[in-house]
Amino acid sequence: MDFPKIINPYNNNISKNDLRFYLFSSHLYILCIVIHVALLMLFFFIEIYLMAIFNIFSCVIFTLNLILNKKGFLNLAYHFAIIEITLHAALATLCLGWESNFSFYSVAICSVIMFSTFLKLHIKIIEVALTSSLYLFVFGYILNNSTLYDANDLAVQIIGFINIIVIISLLTSIFYKFYLETYILNKKLKSAAETDSLTGVYNRSFFNEYVEIEIKRLLNELNYNTQAKQQVNLGIAIIDIDNFKKINDTYGHLTGDNVIVQVVEIIRKSVFSRDLICRYGGEEFVILFNRTSNDGAINTAERIRKEIEKHKFIFNDTVKNGKITISIGFASFDEIKSDSIESLLNLADTRLYKAKSSGKNLLIYN
Ligand code: GH3
Ligand code: MG
Ligand code: MG
Repeated sequence: MDFPKIINPYNNNISKNDLRFYLFSSHLYILCIVIHVALLMLFFFIEIYLMAIFNIFSCVIFTLNLILNKKGFLNLAYHFAIIEITLHAALATLCLGWESNFSFYSVAICSVIMFSTFLKLHIKIIEVALTSSLYLFVFGYILNNSTLYDANDLAVQIIGFINIIVIISLLTSIFYKFYLETYILNKKLKSAAETDSLTGVYNRSFFNEYVEIEIKRLLNELNYNTQAKQQVNLGIAIIDIDNFKKINDTYGHLTGDNVIVQVVEIIRKSVFSRDLICRYGGEEFVILFNRTSNDGAINTAERIRKEIEKHKFIFNDTVKNGKITISIGFASFDEIKSDSIESLLNLADTRLYKAKSSGKNLLIYN
């Protein structure tokens, strides 16, 4: 599809919402033209000429809407479409009677109005009230007068059936679109609430929640399967970058951030996907080793320490073999008496402190 000058995806001034709405409404107007051309032919065929003329008029309106959309008048085109569908369906109801089910288009129109994201609530309420009043008038008129066109009962019933099918399809697609957008939004919100934006690993609050669940699961498993003790243990390693303040002070905070990202990358590559990495503080990370023996977890932690020690960090354009080290405190669930995450973290933290006071660039695990 060609994009209009105003609604151009390569133009950064245009919001994603407008672009989505442009694409959605343009496709909708094309669909409306196709439907009205089909109806136009149907009404000519069954010789209801007045209705055929309405459909010619509708095709003109939706073509005009496509032009308005291209020129960037999205709201105006949208309102024209709502007014056209409402009036057209009301006139069709006056022509063919209530059984033609044209009145059900008001339900689809009211849903479109209520789900639109750019209309204020009071405008939505006014538009829905106007649509309802119009149909109240149509209903009253039909009760007291005969329909404008004396159509054959079978033809009206067939038209009524087609209308119900079209309206069900319309409502289903409107609700599905709404469901899909809500689902994607919820996923984005959930991920934003759980992860750290700099590194993409989990944040502290998610970690605390997750570990609590993991500990419950572990205790459950230990209760029912005493032989599983070796395989179901849970270990954590707290990692803190050594002398990180100096990196910030010498090379600036941006370099500091960059180093944090590079450290996370090395940790990520060194652990299993079932292990959980979390940014616990500024330059402090926690790894939760799941279903790993203590030896396996300690070996992995030591490998990470060595990997970072020998890695050439990019500090800036000139310093491309920067050196940093980390200190690690490791603790395992089978060492603590209670089943609280705090005791486990405290033990690992005490060992991290010991590593710092013993000269840094060390892993302490007992
Ligand atoms: P130590 O070896 O004892 O750990 O010394 P250190 O300099 O690393 O000291 P400490 O861990 O107490 O200090 C961490 C510093 O990390 C403090 C803060 O300025 C910096 N920092 C924390 N979060 C960030 C961040 O997101 N980006 C950057 N660039 N720096 C951070
Ligand atoms: Mg530090
Ligand atoms: Mg620190």
